Amino acid sequence: MEFPLFRTKTDGADSHFDLSNPKDRQEYFKLKAGPEIEKIKKHIAEGYTFIAYLMGKKSSGKGTFAKMFIETIGSESVDHFSIGDMIRTIDKELQSEDSKKALIDFLKINYRGWLKIEDIMKMLNERSTKTLLPTDLILTLVKREIEKREKKVIFIDGFPRDMDQISYSLFFRDLIGYRDDPDLFILIDVPNDVINERIKFRRICPKCKTSRNLKLLPTSKIKYENGNFTLLCDNPECDEIEMVGKEGDELGIEPIRTRLETDEKLIKQAFSLYGIPKILLRNAIPVEAAKDLVDNYEVTPEFHYRWNESEKRVEVDELLWTFKDKKGSDFYSLMPPPVVVSLIHQMVEVLDLS
Ligand SMILES: [Zn+2]
Repeated sequence: MEFPLFRTKTDGADSHFDLSNPKDRQEYFKLKAGPEIEKIKKHIAEGYTFIAYLMGKKSSGKGTFAKMFIETIGSESVDHFSIGDMIRTIDKELQSEDSKKALIDFLKINYRGWLKIEDIMKMLNERSTKTLLPTDLILTLVKREIEKREKKVIFIDGFPRDMDQISYSLFFRDLIGYRDDPDLFILIDVPNDVINERIKFRRICPKCKTSRNLKLLPTSKIKYENGNFTLLCDNPECDEIEMVGKEGDELGIEPIRTRLETDEKLIKQAFSLYGIPKILLRNAIPVEAAKDLVDNYEVTPEFHYRWNESEKRVEVDELLWTFKDKKGSDFYSLMPPPVVVSLIHQMVEVLDLS
């Protein structure tokens, strides 16, 4: 399974964008995919929508890519939901009698399968995060989410998540007759090494829940104490509170290794499907090819910290982060925006808008 390399380099222009700044990002997208964005917007404005299944390993950035796509096209016409969020919303719905009744009414009309409604409700009530809900129930609940988002392009994250569900998703459109929209798969290839560093160095603000990364995406304020460097939240409301790592994050991908293997197998299966359009996104590029493919600011940097004792301040060095693949070749990891540029360009082709 080899995903194609995509070129986002701008010839001649020596522009630079801060891709973590939303305003800069808009300018960036305009430069790298302006005409394509307009084509997709026009297509949707003419009444065409579609459904995209996002398939990538856990922590591969599916949600981030969807959010940035929505940022460029507009939230009035594009929406995104994950199966995880869907289930969490149902947990909340079960707290109120009115919404619980609405859910039961929906299931009575739409659910087809072997479970009694009472058993489904019991299952939803007692659900632990470890147990997977049966596919026939997931299908019904996904249908409900699609119906809530009439006349919108929808990105679905977390479905399909096993082999059975892949087969269902292929015929989902026909099964539930959701619209005559096209559907497509967005497959995301991110090396485990990248996911490992993202988890290991992840830091979260206890107050505003903003997630950053000590190594790859620091805040503007860094504290030094007893040989350790800590990120301070730079959200004005948070008053420079210390960001912390979640328990277990220091283990990186170890606790989710099996899950990542299953995810990878699924992506491979989806990769070899016929008859459904696919968009292939990759995050890693060989260092050798990078010069011709991308601008430097599109590559994920890594940050090193030093304590300057005489001036009593932290000094920060920024380098391009390099990691090795299984064969020992050097790779860069792309920032999310260039991956989204590739997504937008491929979408124009898949939807035949060029
Ligand atoms: Zn904060």
